[in-house]
Amino acid sequence: MGTAESAGTRLISVSGDVEKPGIYEIEWGISLKDVLELVGARNPRVAQISGPSGECVSVAREGNRTFSYKDLSCNGSLMVFSYERNLLEIVRHFIHFFVEESCGICTPCRAGNVELYNKMSLVIEGRAVEQDLEEIFEWAKIIRGSSRCGLGTTSPKPIITSLQAFPEEYKQKLVEQNGPLLASFDLNAALHEFTVATNTLQGAETAQTVEGSK
Ligand code: SF4
Repeated sequence: MGTAESAGTRLISVSGDVEKPGIYEIEWGISLKDVLELVGARNPRVAQISGPSGECVSVAREGNRTFSYKDLSCNGSLMVFSYERNLLEIVRHFIHFFVEESCGICTPCRAGNVELYNKMSLVIEGRAVEQDLEEIFEWAKIIRGSSRCGLGTTSPKPIITSLQAFPEEYKQKLVEQNGPLLASFDLNAALHEFTVATNTLQGAETAQTVEGSK
């Protein structure tokens, strides 16, 4: 059974928007499309192969890809998301998982995943510009190249593979950069912090003056 390069079968756990979730034994070489039919996928748009640290695949564009060591070398998890789901929210949720699970020893994994989470929030809130997407790739490169263990090195995958599979999903949320300030920079919030700090300082000085005149 299987193919010349990938002999035998693989057990996979199927969850998400499917009629028949559960554990399946599939033959290596079977296409994604056929597996989705087997499990009764409902209006499938996204297949997440191998969990959050795996690959995000577009069913419409890549349904003919096969489960094999040379292609979708699934580690045992297949999550299916329909057109009704919000892909960006799902990706942010995956990144949140890595933020929570990072043990914190390596700075790129500890701080980098927080940065990726913040970037995803900017995209979702419609406050990201093209430069934010470029910085996502930069951060991903740093995290993958300098984290100590597998959790760190695979943590940018949900965002990078979803960006590659569904670039339009991200691009439609971007805003044009207007002037030198990034859209993500909240001028009012920054000024508010300054006002609070100034008021606190003035309050302390006034108290000192009153104390001194007694
Ligand atoms: S890469 Fe691994 S060791 Fe480093 S902070 Fe992340 S979880 Fe910890």
